[in-house]
Amino acid sequence: MKILLAEDEPVSRLMMQRALQQFGYEVVIAQDGREAAGILSAPDAPRLAIIDWMMPELDGPALCRKVRQRHYETPYVYIILLTSRQNSEDVVAGLESGADDYLVKPCALAELKARLRTGRRILELEDKLVEAREQMRYKATFDSLTRLKNRAAILSFARKTLSRGHHTGKSTVLILCDVDNFKRINDTYGHQSGDAVLEEIARRLDASVRPGDAVGRYGGEEFLILLADCDPSVIERRCEDIRCAVAATPIKTPAHEIQVTISIGAILHMGGGDDSVLQDLLARADAALYRAKALGRNRVEVVGSTPVIRTVALPGPHAFHKAKGGHSTAQLPLLISSLG
Ligand code: GH3
Ligand code: MG
Ligand code: MG
Ligand code: MG
Repeated sequence: MKILLAEDEPVSRLMMQRALQQFGYEVVIAQDGREAAGILSAPDAPRLAIIDWMMPELDGPALCRKVRQRHYETPYVYIILLTSRQNSEDVVAGLESGADDYLVKPCALAELKARLRTGRRILELEDKLVEAREQMRYKATFDSLTRLKNRAAILSFARKTLSRGHHTGKSTVLILCDVDNFKRINDTYGHQSGDAVLEEIARRLDASVRPGDAVGRYGGEEFLILLADCDPSVIERRCEDIRCAVAATPIKTPAHEIQVTISIGAILHMGGGDDSVLQDLLARADAALYRAKALGRNRVEVVGSTPVIRTVALPGPHAFHKAKGGHSTAQLPLLISSLG
């Protein structure tokens, strides 16, 4: 383990360095307080430090204060202050500057060793706390089954995207995907296979979007996708690609190959918006999804947040519709011609 030894006095430094090396530490030396501060703020800095009180440039207590001012998420450094002062006032001042412990010079080696062990114990506890915090943060953000953003995280992403739209004027596309007849998949193949299917759908959805877009698990078998800055003329194509990413090949689970499809309701929004705009967009995307289900599933329905923009027909059995209220495929040529 690395340890910083900041000591300006050469003889004392050498003795201490030898002792620390004997204890098995990799010793990093600083000859004054400023050099020590530089070493402690470098990436992969030592997390144990023995710091002399009296040093040129920056004294021990000032160095402690500097280290403790850092962001609370920078790795904790356990600091032992070396001092020849031992009256109670000095000890209190040293500890109040942020030192964890102090040693009076010249110090007995056994005591030094024991105090370093205490420091390592504290650092191990700190590591466990950090790990627990990271796990909690992960659980608060990601869905445990699919490892996609969870509902709260994808909605937060949507809010941020809309809020940025105020300044950028860029488009946002919200896409709600719902697995078709998923209850039947569970009933036929079992809940475990159902879970495996959801995992694979999540993987396919995630692979079908671009950097800057986001995919989240919105509910049980529902996913919410955000496309950032999507050209309105390609929304239908992008949604079709997403639909096909799931439908194209059956999903292999350990026991079965299962053909799965999704229905999609999507909405385009230009510019910014607050939470009420988001709720409105979600409700309208949901209505479009409902239409996709009612019209036979395994299909895409797109609404524009402004009145009808354009209607395009693509070849294939699952043509989609773009208009408030949805138009049947048979109406498409009429619409295209009426829109010029
Ligand atoms: P539709 O095409 O109308 O969407 O039909 P559906 O069967 O997909 O819809 P429904 O809402 O009736 O059923 C959704 C099912 O998804 C019911 C629920 O048990 C299942 N489900 C939700 N979350 C999970 C999960 O994490 N794992 C598994 N295996 N099933 C889930
Ligand atoms: Mg000194
Ligand atoms: Mg559903
Ligand atoms: Mg469903």
